[in-house]
Amino acid sequence: PAIIRAERVEKYYSQPSENRIQVISPTDLSIVQGEIIALLGPSGSGKSTLLRMLTGLSTPSAGQVYWHEAPIQSADVNVSIVFQSFALFPWLTVLENIEAPLKARGVDAATRRKRSLKILDTVGLDGFQAAYPKELSGGMRQRVGFARALVVEPEVLFMDEPFSALDVLTAENLRSELLELWHKKTIPTKSIFIVTHNIEEAVLLADRIIVLGRNPGHIRTDFRVNLAHP
Ligand code: ADP
Ligand code: ADP
Repeated sequence: PAIIRAERVEKYYSQPSENRIQVISPTDLSIVQGEIIALLGPSGSGKSTLLRMLTGLSTPSAGQVYWHEAPIQSADVNVSIVFQSFALFPWLTVLENIEAPLKARGVDAATRRKRSLKILDTVGLDGFQAAYPKELSGGMRQRVGFARALVVEPEVLFMDEPFSALDVLTAENLRSELLELWHKKTIPTKSIFIVTHNIEEAVLLADRIIVLGRNPGHIRTDFRVNLAHP
């Protein structure tokens, strides 16, 4: 059974000239429990557009996205998104950043603290809770980004080019740590959906790769990666 399922979703944007720009042509896809999916495609192929529709942030022009088989717009969706740019609150400490989504959900202070400290430890940030984002390296900031996304225990963790703003070595380290945590089942999420333009990253991380073509964005290939994970 799918956690999220897209049925014939399309996205087009209207132009003043009345020409429609088709960004996603009719697309079907499912996200099920226990898989890492990579959405691979060149810049401008519609990856972010598809991600926004799969998370309920944007409404398809046609078709429907389902959350546990209910229309996503009226469902109680539990997903998180990690962004390329980290998108941390600069005026909040590391711990306060991680607590923020729990605060927004009305979780009490003691529980917030407990859950945030636990996830902080998981992503290797212990000792940094009182630091501010500007005092951290890019890699450490993205660890905060991961922690903030994971603290709500999302059913699906979405990531939009999460390693693209990092230098090669830092990206490599974070990627393999993520994979290790995933295989040890220490990441509190059921599935990971990662948007990337990096083929190597897709092959290294994903169980399944969806390739989005351009002009207009449509699924060219959807295949399972038959590599045994280390
Ligand atoms: P990717 O994430 O693969 O780089 P995007 O989903 O960001 O691709 O964009 C796909 C195409 O849709 C681009 O040509 C972009 O300019 C266009 N686009 C995205 N959002 C909008 C919008 N709200 N209005 C008009 N065009 C858009
Ligand atoms: P909805 O259909 O629910 O209104 P959209 O998918 O149209 O949502 O979301 C609009 C988003 O797309 C806004 O965040 C806006 O900043 C962004 N956007 C607008 N124009 C473009 C563009 N040309 N390329 C990429 N993103 C765009």
